[in-house]
Amino acid sequence: MRLDGRTAMVTGASRGIGAAIALRLASDGANVAINYIDEPERDNAAEADQVAEAAREFDVQAVCAEADVTDREAIADVVSYISERLAPIDILVNSAGITRDRTMRKLAPEDWDRVLAVNLTGGFNCARAVVEGMTDRDWGRIISISSVVALMGNFGQANYAASKAGLLGMTKSLAREVARKGVTVNAVAPGFIDTEMTRAIPEDVMAQIVESIPMQATGDPEDVAGAVAFLASDDARYITGHVLSVNGGLYM
Ligand code: NAP
Repeated sequence: MRLDGRTAMVTGASRGIGAAIALRLASDGANVAINYIDEPERDNAAEADQVAEAAREFDVQAVCAEADVTDREAIADVVSYISERLAPIDILVNSAGITRDRTMRKLAPEDWDRVLAVNLTGGFNCARAVVEGMTDRDWGRIISISSVVALMGNFGQANYAASKAGLLGMTKSLAREVARKGVTVNAVAPGFIDTEMTRAIPEDVMAQIVESIPMQATGDPEDVAGAVAFLASDDARYITGHVLSVNGGLYM
């Protein structure tokens, strides 16, 4: 149990990569808080409950923690709630993310704003809310889910690529600030992973993408979760400010 006794919060963990990360951390012994956003059009609370239920199968504690990562007050509240219900947060995984793809010429300013707000400012809000507790306790892990497109850009994804590249800048800067206090700050940059996000890509476009991946396949959420679990573990104690690619060779 590499994470026995640790407490983790994973944002956007009601499904997809976030859910896989929460379950992997639980299987490694961490108590987990499943953050999700309450959206009336889909029953996210029920999805988050299912993830928490599955996490408890690993004999750890699991709670659901509803908050929009763009809402600073709500994030501060869930951080206090997790601290009371479980323990102070040792491991933060910023996985909440959205896409609103359009070429720059057609990109609505509100779609730029919202993607930056969720993917980048949301990561800042969560890191800001937990980092002081981590430095006080001389141990912590902050891991943000960036993307291969932060490194290579992508047609129609200026907003998304900028937000994910921003996370890398934040990661490296914060890593320097807290390195002396036992807190590591890293990012994982997935390539194309089979989730609802990539299922929204048209089939013919996806076929072309897969063709360009040296491993000739998309990855699974569990591939990303494994990288996060490693960075969260004591095995990675001397790794900070790193960007770990999980992309089947798409970008080297
Ligand atoms: P997904 O299936 O669309 O899941 C995204 C999760 O984030 C959902 O649970 C979503 O909740 C949640 N979320 C969205 N806005 C939120 C907010 N304001 N506050 C809290 N939670 C919010 O996506 P995914 O593929 O698992 O992606 C997870 C992360 O990996 C994202 O940051 C994504 O950018 C990144 N990533 C994914 C891929 C890929 O190929 N899939 C590649 C590189 C990076 P709802 O259910 O309400 O939407």
